Amino acid sequence: MSTTICFEGTVVLPDRLLPESYVVCRNGIIEHVGKRKPEGITPISGTYIAPGYVDIHVHGGGGSDYMDGTPEAVRTVNRVHLSHGTTTIFPTTTTGTTEELCRMLQACREVQKNWSIADGARIGGVHYYGPYFAADKVGCHSVEGRRDPDPAEYEPFFLLGLIRIATCAAEIPGAREFYKAAKRHQCLVTCGHSNASWAEMAMAYDSGMRHVDHFWCAMSSVSSLRTRFGTPMQASMEQFVLAHEEMSTEVIADGRHLSPELLEFAYRMKRAERLCLVTDANRAVDMPPGRYRFGPVETGSWFESDGCVGFVPEVGLASSVKGMDTMVRVMSQATSATLPEVIRMASLTPAERVGLDEHIGSLGPGKHADVLVLDSTLAVQQAFVGGCASPRAD
Ligand SMILES: [Zn+2]
Ligand SMILES: [Zn+2]
Repeated sequence: MSTTICFEGTVVLPDRLLPESYVVCRNGIIEHVGKRKPEGITPISGTYIAPGYVDIHVHGGGGSDYMDGTPEAVRTVNRVHLSHGTTTIFPTTTTGTTEELCRMLQACREVQKNWSIADGARIGGVHYYGPYFAADKVGCHSVEGRRDPDPAEYEPFFLLGLIRIATCAAEIPGAREFYKAAKRHQCLVTCGHSNASWAEMAMAYDSGMRHVDHFWCAMSSVSSLRTRFGTPMQASMEQFVLAHEEMSTEVIADGRHLSPELLEFAYRMKRAERLCLVTDANRAVDMPPGRYRFGPVETGSWFESDGCVGFVPEVGLASSVKGMDTMVRVMSQATSATLPEVIRMASLTPAERVGLDEHIGSLGPGKHADVLVLDSTLAVQQAFVGGCASPRAD
């Protein structure tokens, strides 16, 4: 039986708005985008019809963290983020033991394999993020769970075929081999939680690294390298990313991590084609203010949420507690980026960086019917994954 659905409103394309237009989907695939109103179908209408968001860096929500390592925890997080507009999600590891990482990967694989709309956002792949961080840049991750990369640990994980994004600090022993292995397994290779110099970034770039996690957070700066190397002062990850056209990065645009000026600067320097919006959200999304664990429920480090952001008192921020709808709204208010550009940073750009843009990331014929109905404030009224409507919150 064939199912046709149709959306009506201002359609958001990667490079322009298409007012008073229609998106027609059949059997979970977009068939047509344009002015022509299809006959015999009652359209679902909204102010904006946008592509589903793609979040390449996200840890939790709804009280659960992917590192809790159960299919139920994975589903809880995926449901929460779908309600905020993320239709393709990349569950992100924290630091932890090999066993904890293994459980997380198995749980994600099981949920990905048997996905239905009741499970929330669809898993695009896992972001293997912790544990290969620099000891002085672990941020809110538990430092006991950090270590240098060892092929005996990561090779079996890559062989599962689930990891699409892989992070490692460029300056730690074994980084070069890790980057090469990640590239061989067709991952977006990224450097994060790192105090790397330009020279270490250049080595990483030669080994396939093309992305840096959450710009300005847990990364090197000229002054952090001065502490490491003295003078002459060294160029840092920041200069390396800004100087290399091929390098992409991401911002946590929750309004708490970065000021409007930094968001605007990142957009002007990297443009929408090389800047991704990420939530980097922890388990406190849609949860009351309180004390929570970052990472595994039994062993993760403690942080607090005030309902606006996660933080460790007297230390610093501990990732966001908001969904992608917030990142899109903040970015659009804080910067000169146009609405199509802001939405591109939350959809097509991350899809391109992980190599899934043939299927997801924009509204075009042949792509998955991952569609958002947005109101004039950019709030998500309803989300569709593969043409299936998410259960409505109201
Ligand atoms: Zn981080
Ligand atoms: Zn993170």
